Amino acid sequence: MSFKNKVVVVTGSGSGIGAAAAVLFAEEGAHVVIVDCSKTRANITAGKCEQYGNKVLVIVADVSKQEDDEKIIKQTIETFGKLDVLVNNAGTVVEEKILDGTILYTYDKIMNTNLRSVVVLTSLAAPHLAKTRGCIVNTSSVASTNIKAGRPFPSYCVAKAGVDSFTRASAFELASSGVRVNAVNPGPVRTNIFEHAGLSENWEDFSKSTVLKKASEPKEVANLILYLASDKASSITGACYLIDNGMALM
Ligand code: NAD
Repeated sequence: MSFKNKVVVVTGSGSGIGAAAAVLFAEEGAHVVIVDCSKTRANITAGKCEQYGNKVLVIVADVSKQEDDEKIIKQTIETFGKLDVLVNNAGTVVEEKILDGTILYTYDKIMNTNLRSVVVLTSLAAPHLAKTRGCIVNTSSVASTNIKAGRPFPSYCVAKAGVDSFTRASAFELASSGVRVNAVNPGPVRTNIFEHAGLSENWEDFSKSTVLKKASEPKEVANLILYLASDKASSITGACYLIDNGMALM
């Protein structure tokens, strides 16, 4: 799966799945654009990527803001002159309830970060990806179809269902431009997503809610992202791949 001289943008690559994917892309020869709202985390991932000798660009940006998304694509093109792969991975959760009305205050943030960013970045990147016949991989979640997996995060479930739907919609429209679009739908993955959201997670219990009784490591999901972005997946577009230890079966 060589990505030699390919230019790959990975959002949310300061941590977890995105960081693992950025390092793997760098290992496979790509020039990687590390995008994260945390400068500290982005720089840590950049340090890991730099050891492979390819160019690494760090862009500190909040993907929920359209002006930041414009900056991401503009700086990438100014620096490298092209874009081959976009990984829309940045995401977050917030605990919320419908009955007590907390969802009214959390919905916009969750939708803008997890779904609107995917729509905006896809649209901004599409003309550049059409020139390289590149591709997009979106990080969705098993929670897009399994409400139990996404409890207590109703807006998150809605956003990820939107990511699946937009993956299909964009795959359909962009196919004629030679651009493939796919998604990965993880179950529990051992990252700091809950800690970053100020929540604690009992990974033991979370893992028990899968049929394989375990959580995945970020690198396992990153491997699937790289496969879908590679030429080996040239026949795959509009697909949403579960990688959830069988959580959807529960
Ligand atoms: P993580 O918190 O470890 O990493 C996410 C990174 O995204 C962080 O570095 C964070 O700073 C960054 N980020 C968050 N909001 C951002 C924003 N608005 N702009 C820019 N950067 C932002 O989490 P993770 O588990 O690696 O999550 C990656 C993706 O995987 C997310 O889309 C998440 O919904 C999805 N996912 C995770 C799990 C899991 O169990 N960890 C399961 C299913 C899906």
